[in-house]
Amino acid sequence: MKNVDLNILASSSSGNSTLLRIGGHNFLIDIGVSCLYLKNSLNSLMMDIGDIDAVFITHEHIDHVKGLDVFTRNHNIPIFIKEKCFDVVSKKVLRKDCFQILTDDIKFKDVCVSFFSTPHDAIDPVGYSFSYRDFCFSYVTDLGEVTSDVRYVIDNSDLLVLESNHDVEMLKNGSYPYYLKKRILSANGHLSNKDAAFALLNSKTRKRDIILAHLSEKNNCIDLLKKTYKEILGKSKLPFKIKIAKPREIVGIKLNV
Ligand SMILES: [Zn+2]
Ligand SMILES: [Zn+2]
Repeated sequence: MKNVDLNILASSSSGNSTLLRIGGHNFLIDIGVSCLYLKNSLNSLMMDIGDIDAVFITHEHIDHVKGLDVFTRNHNIPIFIKEKCFDVVSKKVLRKDCFQILTDDIKFKDVCVSFFSTPHDAIDPVGYSFSYRDFCFSYVTDLGEVTSDVRYVIDNSDLLVLESNHDVEMLKNGSYPYYLKKRILSANGHLSNKDAAFALLNSKTRKRDIILAHLSEKNNCIDLLKKTYKEILGKSKLPFKIKIAKPREIVGIKLNV
């Protein structure tokens, strides 16, 4: 088996959950899907929920925490979360003793998990980096813009999940109400295809793999996304391998590091 195995189990505004197997540990990032969906997804990868060592929560929006209540009632697995986010989430979950407040980096033997702030309209939202030996994977979704902290993370990741939420014109011309369009387009909203592509173009390049994630089901389409990335990245010879996450289908990458 390869020693890094990333599987995006679900990715969209209606539910997000990612499995990262690294250095002999199994981590979940967010449980924005039902526990049944999670169980079935893990089963299809020959795993069970009991194999998970820890869960990391990015923020309290329902598409990231939907399955937490049922998950915590049925499993003794630590859930790492920022304190302000826990204050909100704890009102929606019955069992609270499995939550651990994140204040600093966490070590699981050779794997170090760190968090960084993301500009998003939630209470203290974060992304995560998982470092193992000299390899780094980062999870960067739900952000309105690429801040200097996020740019640093992108520059230093060998494997990256990056939000590519919407096509700006499709969103502007689409059916969403004005307030929602304004929210998504704001600096605390979601990252557009164009902004994500420029973030990759402007990053200090290292050979890496990327999965574009959290695509809007209403305001994005694969053809437009590919066209935008081709226009922006096509002329430069970047050593990127890009995959696209699906709303309800597993998309994965296996690496030996
Ligand atoms: Zn989200
Ligand atoms: Zn969100």
